[in-house]
Amino acid sequence: MAIKTGIQWCDHTFNGWRGCVECSCGCAHCYARILSYRNPRLLGKWGKEGVGTRIVAAESYWREPLKWNRQARAAGVCRRVFSASLSDVFEEWEGPMHDIKGRQLFVSDEYAGFWVPDGCLDGLPPKYQAELWGKKTRPVRMQDARHRLLGMIAGTKGLDYLLLTKRPHIAKRYLGKKTNMWRAASHLAHAMYGPEGSIGDGLCEWPPSNVWLGVSVENRKDGLPRIDVLRTIKVPIRFLSIEPLLEDLGELDLTGIHWVIVGGESGSKARPFDLAWARKIRDQCREQGVACFIKQLGYRPFTREPARDSRIGVYAPTMSGKRDGSDDTYGLCLHDSHGGDWSEWPEDLRVRQLPR
Ligand code: SF4
Repeated sequence: MAIKTGIQWCDHTFNGWRGCVECSCGCAHCYARILSYRNPRLLGKWGKEGVGTRIVAAESYWREPLKWNRQARAAGVCRRVFSASLSDVFEEWEGPMHDIKGRQLFVSDEYAGFWVPDGCLDGLPPKYQAELWGKKTRPVRMQDARHRLLGMIAGTKGLDYLLLTKRPHIAKRYLGKKTNMWRAASHLAHAMYGPEGSIGDGLCEWPPSNVWLGVSVENRKDGLPRIDVLRTIKVPIRFLSIEPLLEDLGELDLTGIHWVIVGGESGSKARPFDLAWARKIRDQCREQGVACFIKQLGYRPFTREPARDSRIGVYAPTMSGKRDGSDDTYGLCLHDSHGGDWSEWPEDLRVRQLPR
């Protein structure tokens, strides 16, 4: 929900809706799900249809990117927006979408400008109440929210949007070719965000040239197949978020990939992170000419080379003495619990490159 973000490589975060469901072991300690336990009304209830809820952000929130876009244009820069940190944009969800008050949302296909709870027009500016009055409505679906997001992206070209997913096969369905989704997103872009992204005939560029699409890669089994799908989707920037990195990924084919982010897991239940795994990825990025960004070492970084890494922090045998099943691992004691302060890292791991 934050407008300004703590993520080092983004200027803003945008969460058009909140809520998701776990789909792989990379989700085991999903921080957004843990946050949602405290405030399910705001952040949604994690789970499948029938159990979970998905909460759409307020209209005023959906207009924030217009402001960021104007600011970026005025400053003559292109700013980066991470969307989304509290959901997976390409989740498969056919259930209802609610507002923060728990009311199901409806939309008119004749007038796509606004979504209203239970056909209620209260709270909308009078002009829009008049335009919506008497129009037939249907329940808002997640794919409407996706159309709206993509339309918004097309209409705010002063911003680059980073979409990160564990479901690239769904992303491919949306972005892979010009379909009805393209028309729907174009329609929404015009209705809500003006002609900025238009290429004529009421259609917007597809996929929008300011989409950066990324996949999470936590391990070999679930993560590596996602890279192959990502490679086939034509977007200007394709990136990997290798976080939390849970094992040695082995040899990587980075053909068609522009950027790789690497990180260990945060939180008291974090799984161990071997510095050697990160070094191997960094080296492969170098060899294949791909930008590499080591984001954090996480809560449980370890090394097998205490002599090599000994100049930073204090080394101690791991709590169990066997973090990865062997006796020769040494935990890193860092002050930053996320392992995000690179002044505490071995110098050779201080790599933070951006694509382009
Ligand atoms: S896909 Fe992402 S947002 Fe969804 S549960 Fe997994 S980690 Fe959380």
